[in-house]
Amino acid sequence: MGVFDHAEFDDHESLHFFNDAATGLRAIIAVHSTVLGPGAGGCRRWTYTSETDALTDALRLSRGMTYKNAVAELPFGGGKAVILADDNAPKSAELFAALGRAVASLGGRYITAEDVGISVEDMRNVKQQTEFVSGLPQSGDNAGGDPSPWTAVGVFLGIQAAIRTRLARNSCEGLTVAVQGVGHVGGHLCQLLHDAGAKLMIADVNRENLMAVCAAIPAEVVTPAEILYAEADVLAPCALGNILSTATIPQIRAKVIAGAANNQLSTEADGARLAERDILYAPDYVINAGGIISVSHEYFGNSSEDQVRSDVEKIPRRLEAIFSEASKTGRPTNELADELARRLIAVGK
Ligand code: NAD
Repeated sequence: MGVFDHAEFDDHESLHFFNDAATGLRAIIAVHSTVLGPGAGGCRRWTYTSETDALTDALRLSRGMTYKNAVAELPFGGGKAVILADDNAPKSAELFAALGRAVASLGGRYITAEDVGISVEDMRNVKQQTEFVSGLPQSGDNAGGDPSPWTAVGVFLGIQAAIRTRLARNSCEGLTVAVQGVGHVGGHLCQLLHDAGAKLMIADVNRENLMAVCAAIPAEVVTPAEILYAEADVLAPCALGNILSTATIPQIRAKVIAGAANNQLSTEADGARLAERDILYAPDYVINAGGIISVSHEYFGNSSEDQVRSDVEKIPRRLEAIFSEASKTGRPTNELADELARRLIAVGK
C-alpha cells in the first residue's frame, strides 16, 4: 500500500497508523495541513472493504478539511481520523480511550470531533485522555456539543441560496428534495426542510434512521438505489462520498445538488460534468461547514450559540459568490471553491 504515490496523496504533512491490541482499535489519522492552525476534522468509524479504502478516505477527507476550514475562515488546518470498524472490536469506552491516547500522542497537531458512526458519548470517552477534542456539550449558553444540527442548518441555508440561483425560487414551499442518508445531519435537515414547506423523498440503508424521520414528518421513502435519480428539484446527499461520477451523473434529474456528505464528487472532473448538464453543485466543503464552525467556537471557548449562528449564516453568502463567478465564467463550482481555498491558505502561510 503506497502512500507517497497514492492518487489521493496531496503533500499531506503526516500520516499516523494506530493499533491497540487490547481494544482492537485500528485507526488512521491523516494531518493534511497545519498551515492555518491545528489540523481539525472529525473521526469516522466505518466498515471499510480494505485498508486501502480506509487510507483513501483518510487522505481525501483530511485534505477536504483543510479546504473547508480555510474557506470558512477558521483558525484550523485539516486532519481526519478513520477507525476501521471490526465486529471483533465493537464500540466501547476503552476503544475510544485508546483513540484519545492516539490523538494525545500527536500533541495538538490534530483535533478530533464527531463524524459518521460516532456519537457525543464516544467523544466523551476520548476527552478522558486528551484535550484535543471538541463536539462535547457545554454548560449554560456556551456553544458546543454534537455539531450535526449546525451542519444541517448550514446545508438548509445553502439549499436556499442554490434554489434562488438555479430555480429563481425564494422559498422551499412546494419544493421536492431528495435526501440520501437520514442520520445525524440528514435527519435534522429533513425537519428544517419540512418546516419550510418542502416535500421530502428519503432513503437510507439503516431502517431505524429511516423510521425515526417517518415518525416525525411526512416523507416518501424510496430505495437507496433510486434516491440519486429521484424526480426532485434538489438532491441533498447526506450519506457517504463518491456518489457523483460518470456512472451516476447522466441519470440525475435534480437541477441542484446541495448536501452535507463529504467528497461527493468521485473526481474533480465530475464537477465539470455536472456543470455541462446545468446542474448547480454546491461544493460540499463550503455548504457543510456548519459543524466545524460550531466545533471551532467550542474549542476556542467563550462563545455563544448566537455567535455560531451568525458564522453559519455566512455559508449562503460564500456559496452565492461561487455561484455568481461560475455563471460569469462558465467554470465548475468545485474548481472555483478549490481555487478560493488554495488562495486563502497561501495568504495565511
Ligand atoms: P451519520 O452516520 O449519522 O448518517 C449517515 C447516514 O447515511 C446513516 O443513516 C447511514 O445509514 C446512511 N447511509 C450510508 N450509506 C448509505 C447509502 N448508500 N444510501 C443511503 N443511506 C446511506 O453521519 P452524519 O454525521 O449525518 O454525516 C453524514 C455526511 O455528512 C457524511 O458524509 C459526513 O462526513 C458529512 N458531514 C457531517 C458533519 C456532521 O456535523 N456530522 C459535518 C460535515 C459533513
